[in-house]
Amino acid sequence: MQHRILIRDLPAKLGETVIVAGWLHRLRDLSKFGFAILRDRTGLVQVVLSTEQLESLKGFQVETVLKVTGEVVKKQSKDPNANEVEIQAMSVEILSPVKDVVPVEINKEEVDVQLDTLLDNRVVTLRHPKQRAIFRVQAALVHGFRSFMESQGFTEIFFPVLAGAASEGGAEFFRVDYYGREATLTQSAQLYKQITMGVYEGVYGVSYSFRAEKFATSRHLTEFNQLEFEVGFVDDMEDVMAYGESATRAMLAEVAMSCVPELELLGVTLPPLGDRFPRVKLKEALEIYKAGTGIDETQEPDLSPAAEKWLSTQWAPKEHGTGFVFVTHYPESKRPFYVALDPEDPTSTLSFDLIGFGSEIVSGGMRINRYDEQIARIKAKGLKPEEFEDYLMMHKYGIPPEGGWGMGLQRLTQNVLGLANIKEATIFPRDVQRLRP
Ligand code: ATP
Ligand code: MG
Repeated sequence: MQHRILIRDLPAKLGETVIVAGWLHRLRDLSKFGFAILRDRTGLVQVVLSTEQLESLKGFQVETVLKVTGEVVKKQSKDPNANEVEIQAMSVEILSPVKDVVPVEINKEEVDVQLDTLLDNRVVTLRHPKQRAIFRVQAALVHGFRSFMESQGFTEIFFPVLAGAASEGGAEFFRVDYYGREATLTQSAQLYKQITMGVYEGVYGVSYSFRAEKFATSRHLTEFNQLEFEVGFVDDMEDVMAYGESATRAMLAEVAMSCVPELELLGVTLPPLGDRFPRVKLKEALEIYKAGTGIDETQEPDLSPAAEKWLSTQWAPKEHGTGFVFVTHYPESKRPFYVALDPEDPTSTLSFDLIGFGSEIVSGGMRINRYDEQIARIKAKGLKPEEFEDYLMMHKYGIPPEGGWGMGLQRLTQNVLGLANIKEATIFPRDVQRLRP
C-alpha cells in the first residue's frame, strides 16, 4: 500500500498526516466520539474517531480490516514523560468487513483459553500479539542459523521428504501410497545430508522430519523441522561441537538483537550462554546428577527427562553460567548405524546431545566414513547393506572424516521461550490427534 506507515514508525511522524492500515483490534464507543485500536504486524495504535466515523463502523466486528488517514498527535497521558502517539482520524475506509464475532477473544492481554481451543482457532488466535511474537522469535532463530552457516561458506541444501521404504530402520514412520508403491515420509535428512557433505564439504538446511510418535507429549510432534549441518575434514567430535556451539550463540544473538519488542511482550529474558558450554560424558553426567539430587540413574543408557532438566536448568547455570550442556558418548545401542564408535571403547559412540534449557534440543556426532566399517556397522545393527546401496555409494567412492547435527526447531523455540508445550512453539502443529488447521 503506497505511503502506508507501520505503527512502530509513528512516533517519528508526530504532527504529520499519515496512512495506517490494519485490523480493528478493539472499539470503544464513548457516544460523542470513540477510539479504535488498530493493529498491524508491528503493534497497536489508538485512533480517535468522530461521531460520524464511529457511526460508520457500527455493525462491524473486531478484525475488520481498515485503512485510516489521520494526523499523528501526542497521546493524552497522566505521565508527562510518556511519549506515546495516537491518530486523529480524518477518514476511515473499510478494506474488508467482518460481520461475525470472533470465536476467541484476541484483544486481551492473554488469549485465555485451553491449548486445544487456541489451536482449533489458530487462524484467529495467531493474530494475538503474543502468539505472533513466538513465531517472530522462531524466524529470528532460523535467520541466525542461516547467517552463521553462510558465514562459514556452507551450502544450503533442500532435502527430499518422500523416500523409498528403506529408512533408518527402527523408529516409527509414516507410509504413503506412491503410485501403488509404498513410500515413507523421512524421519530425518541424515543420509542425504551426508551425501551432499561429500560434495560441498559443509552443508546445512532446514529439514522436515516426520515421526509416527505413539503418544502426544509436551515435547513431541509428528511433523517438525530440524536445523541441520554436516561438515567434512574435521579432526574430531570437538570440531563438530564447536561449530554447533558457535551456531547456537549466533542464533540467540540474532534473537537478542532483532526481537527486543517480542521478548518484552512475552516477558522472556533469554537464558544465559556463559563462556563455554560444558562437555560431559554420559557416564559423568549421570554421576553429577546422582551427586546433586541423590537420584541414582547411573545404570541407565540414556538421560531421563528429569535428568536433562536438572543438568540444564540447575547444574550448568550454577557451575558454568549457561543453560546449555553437551552430553557425549552415548552407548552404541542407543545410536543409529551411521554414528562412529569410540575407538577407545567400542560399546560407546562419538555422539553427543546438546541439552538446552530443560531438554534435549540437538543430537549429533561423528559419522563412519570408511566403507568397510560402515557395512560392518549396518550388519551389526541387524540391517541389510543392500537396502542402503545409494547411501553406501558415497563411502565406496570416498568421503572425508565428518560429523554434524540436527537441532529441533520447535523444541528449541519451546525451551528458549519457556513454553509448557511444544505445540505452542509450532505454528500449525500435528500430533497423534491433530491434523488441522
Ligand atoms: P527425543 O529423545 O527428545 O525424543 P530423539 O533423540 O528421538 O528425540 P533425534 O532423532 O535425535 O530425536 O532428533 C533430533 C532433534 O529433533 C531432537 O534433539 C529434538 O530437538 C527434535 N525432535 C526429535 N523428535 C521430535 C518430535 N517428535 N517432535 C519435535 N521435535 C523432535
Ligand atoms: Mg536425539
